[in-house]
Amino acid sequence: MTAANVYGQDGLDRLVERRRDATWFAQVLTDDATRFIVGWRERLPVLDTAEGVRLAGADHRAIAGLTLGVPILLGEVEGATYVAIDASRSDEADVLAALPAGARLAEIREIGALLPGAEAGMAASHRGVLLWHAASRNCGRCGASMIAADAGHTLRCTNADCAATLHPRIDPCVITLVTDGERVLLGRNGRRPGSIFTCFAGFVEPGESLEGAAAREVHEEVGVHLASLRYHSSQPWPFPAQIMVGFLATAATTEIHLDTEEIAEARWFTREELRGITPDGPVQLPRGDSVARRMISGWIEGES
Ligand SMILES: [Zn+2]
Repeated sequence: MTAANVYGQDGLDRLVERRRDATWFAQVLTDDATRFIVGWRERLPVLDTAEGVRLAGADHRAIAGLTLGVPILLGEVEGATYVAIDASRSDEADVLAALPAGARLAEIREIGALLPGAEAGMAASHRGVLLWHAASRNCGRCGASMIAADAGHTLRCTNADCAATLHPRIDPCVITLVTDGERVLLGRNGRRPGSIFTCFAGFVEPGESLEGAAAREVHEEVGVHLASLRYHSSQPWPFPAQIMVGFLATAATTEIHLDTEEIAEARWFTREELRGITPDGPVQLPRGDSVARRMISGWIEGES
């Protein structure tokens, strides 16, 4: 078993069994020890400490003057209980004033890989549930407004004739590293700027297996058939709601036929070529906190 990817580490107790206890959650919300992680327009509060970047929780008194959304229980880390809350309708200056001294608001892309493991997972959970709440104000069946339950993890339609129940949405995505022994196949996405060569990824369709989606995506994007496929690891990817499922594959065919709408360029690389990449060169690898980068680095290092 390999170590977990960024955003997927253990250490956050989600307290799932307590979410339905509304009395307990009401106490959490007025407990001086509860740490509120105040979201502001897709940014998170962080503190730069001597030990590195940490999430900056505020207490209920500090945030009382803000215009706040529904509180959502994140869980417990090292004995402290954390609650996510959206303050996007407040002014940035008021949010900053409510945070612990020295705290700032940061994009998760900037700080995700710098946070301690459990806090990175909490940041991903925070972003996922807040975006889900923001996108789910009305019932998808009847259009009535929704009301939160289960410590913010369930939304219920307020129309009694409908009574639809919603849970946070997660979109499964497969991402596949294809090798043919001594070479690895990487592609550059034509829709994204830059020179990043990475694995092939795509969303799983209804009625499709993860393995089927992996083989389909690779064939669609570069025309290569797979000989074998095995699971590597998974990674929550809250941009906005994916779970990335990483696979290692060996190629049955090596000739490249590009889907030029999606992939601008694809090539087979040797380990020597990838080891020789420089920061200002024409080929770059994906971001360091991604499962794609981890699979590529593992292959370069000769992991089986
Ligand atoms: Zn409804």
